[in-house]
Amino acid sequence: MMKETNYDPSFTDGADTKAKEVLKRYFGYDDFRTGQSSIINSLLAGEDALGIMPTGAGKSICYQVPALMMSGVTLVISPLISLMIDQVKALNQAGIHAAYLNSSLTVGQYYKALDYARQMVYKIIYVAPERLLTEEFQSFARSTEISMVAIDEAHCVSQWGQDFRPSYLKITEFIDSLPKRPIVAAFTATATDLVKNDIIKILHLHNPHTVVTGFDRKNLSFEVRKEKDKFSFLIPYLREHKDQNGIIYCSTRKTVEEVTDRLRQEGFAVTRYHAGLGDRERNQNQDDFIYDKVNLMVATNAFGMGIDKSNVNFVIHYNMPKNLESYYQEAGRAGRDGSNAECILLYAPKDVVTNQYLIDLGNDNEELDDFSRRKVRENEYEKLKQMTFYCFTNDCLREYILRYFGEYGQGYCGNCSNCLTNFEEVDVTAISEALVKTVSESRERYGINVIIDTIRGGKNSKIMQFRMNEASTYASMSKESDKTVRLVVNHLLLTEYLILTNDNYPILKLGPNAHYLLNKERTIMMKMMKEEKKIKPKKVVEYTDKKSAAPAVLDVNEALFAELKSLRAKLATIQKVPAYIIFNDKTLTEMAAYLPVTEEEMLEINGVGAMKFEKYGQDFIDVIKEFKDAADNSSTDSNNQNID
Ligand code: ADP
Ligand code: ZN
Repeated sequence: MMKETNYDPSFTDGADTKAKEVLKRYFGYDDFRTGQSSIINSLLAGEDALGIMPTGAGKSICYQVPALMMSGVTLVISPLISLMIDQVKALNQAGIHAAYLNSSLTVGQYYKALDYARQMVYKIIYVAPERLLTEEFQSFARSTEISMVAIDEAHCVSQWGQDFRPSYLKITEFIDSLPKRPIVAAFTATATDLVKNDIIKILHLHNPHTVVTGFDRKNLSFEVRKEKDKFSFLIPYLREHKDQNGIIYCSTRKTVEEVTDRLRQEGFAVTRYHAGLGDRERNQNQDDFIYDKVNLMVATNAFGMGIDKSNVNFVIHYNMPKNLESYYQEAGRAGRDGSNAECILLYAPKDVVTNQYLIDLGNDNEELDDFSRRKVRENEYEKLKQMTFYCFTNDCLREYILRYFGEYGQGYCGNCSNCLTNFEEVDVTAISEALVKTVSESRERYGINVIIDTIRGGKNSKIMQFRMNEASTYASMSKESDKTVRLVVNHLLLTEYLILTNDNYPILKLGPNAHYLLNKERTIMMKMMKEEKKIKPKKVVEYTDKKSAAPAVLDVNEALFAELKSLRAKLATIQKVPAYIIFNDKTLTEMAAYLPVTEEEMLEINGVGAMKFEKYGQDFIDVIKEFKDAADNSSTDSNNQNID
């Protein structure tokens, strides 16, 4: 292990190259991503740092690399046991001595780990915040050189965030209790100023070097769909992506159950996760997903925090979440390894109502007075509105998200459903008037379907039972498609010509603007899709931070990729680690494109470090060699076109 002192200012000169060497040797990566080297350099120069980077940007490297270059131990404080276990496994695989100290250890194991820690066996120790002030831990910490304390998910100290953890408040007391103040580094994906200031203030960061990296994740594509029947989209999509890993987020436990049941009936292997399940089942299901035993996870937002599964190919939101912060965080769990991934949101008007209900329900924090409570609620309603507008904008979705987080994109990304759609401006006044008139005439008693069926001239039993076939607007819009009318309803809800009640069976009522339409005083224009173009899934595109570098399109050999994956699965089972900890998908993709067969070639592949090569390099080379030989033989045989 390299021994360098972190307090020598002259050290920073060569730090860049040394840090790069460490990155390559242990993690197999050639270059730092945006923000990483600047944070690492300031930590190595002895300054505190605050990294605000989106999920998947690579925060861990920011403290793991300098930890290996400092003389003492680095403590990493992390809120979740699963995250610690995962990270420690990954570090061990990379040949780094690391351990975790949390409640998943028995008392015996805990003391043994502390013993080793005292003997400086570990370079990096993950510790749960509630352990910090215990006597055993304190006695260890006071007698050991602690170079750095890295705080993961640092927004947990802030009461403004959703993830406030009182145990995080102990961190400062712990740091103050140490004989020598270590360097403190804090990391989060939450960008609001309120949270950022809380982190600096509560954790007593000393004039921290703060790095906020761009929020854009170029390898993610974004899509919003407004389906009448979400399953009619979901099922064919899942069939088409059957070998891929995906998360389906639902807003309630009940929906998780419904979606899980339905998908199982359709023959999909799925697992589920929500706060209503027992600990045991939750952990089991989570492991099944992480270890690639089941590749579909249906979950509420309880699932995912701190889960570093890097090979998630798509994240589908079955319901619209309550704000863009949640959406981007959840969607951002796709494509963490840098390969192309899809983020699809299935919007329905009812989602708005569900979220309003959830906001009202969650707004009973007894520590707040009435005034603050009202403020928080208003704030959340505003965020919900911004989220809803995301579903209705016809402009670039990526641009919309980036603007929300205070950044500017280019206005056209070419990789979202809006950039890939042709729109035209359409006059929908007639449909709008018919809808509002029907709601008014039927005295605001029915839901969306009855109103739509009425103006489209439906003949189903409800229409007959409610005698809507006698309404003055009946069949007046029979030429319009159900889809078009539904889009208009959404538009009218958003612009408050109509409102939807907060019931189990939501009722359509007149909104504050309805009179403009009843009195025929307004024209309603809407951007409508000209033709639907499906996002063409491109072959794997390099994740690159260098703006100039054009994304490389790799020529991936699918049959070989499958073989490499099955080798990885075998090794993962033997090593008892999730497959992506051996090598992630992006690494295998590169192997299947560049076909490395020597040590030198193998080390060129992103994600193959010296230690990993030593452990697994030859196994993978063997498979690639065999594949190459077979391909050579078959290409000389004119009758044989099929390699696999
Ligand atoms: P975060 O904590 O910011 O969500 P992680 O630290 O889990 O992100 O990193 C996400 C993924 O990116 C991991 O698979 C990690 O190995 C990879 N990664 C991090 N830094 C680099 C880099 N410089 N080059 C290539 N891959 C990287
Ligand atoms: Zn776009």
